[in-house]
Amino acid sequence: MKAHGSCLCKAVEFSFEVKDKHFDACHCSVCRGWGGGPSFTVEVAGELELKGEENVSLYESSDWAERGFCKKCGTNLFYRLKDKSHNYCNFNLGTLQGHEEFEFRTQIFTDSKPDNYSFANQTKEMTEQEVLESFGAG
Ligand SMILES: [Zn+2]
Ligand SMILES: [Zn+2]
Repeated sequence: MKAHGSCLCKAVEFSFEVKDKHFDACHCSVCRGWGGGPSFTVEVAGELELKGEENVSLYESSDWAERGFCKKCGTNLFYRLKDKSHNYCNFNLGTLQGHEEFEFRTQIFTDSKPDNYSFANQTKEMTEQEVLESFGAG
């Protein structure tokens, strides 16, 4: 199925293929600093169509990844690996139409989660090490 989304001001619009309707949460300190809390993300699983790319600013959040946001309204849009051979990109859940229907499946960087919040949802959980291993970088 295809997911469609946009930033708040609609200067940036996008659509991409998703495997199924699910999202993951990341508790790492960069996601929390970027969005004010854990990020909810949906992985791009196929061709991405991005309109208004000239309105996207990129922030290099690590040596291997960058984060895109709208220059006009500040909506946080995506996280992607710079190494194009991995071709990994995810979009923030809340930017997608119908995101209320997506299922909460996995929490990652659970060893970075502070103790002052936690989700009641039953999900799969992965530590930083487990995530790195799943990317083949462990
Ligand atoms: Zn915008
Ligand atoms: Zn994160």
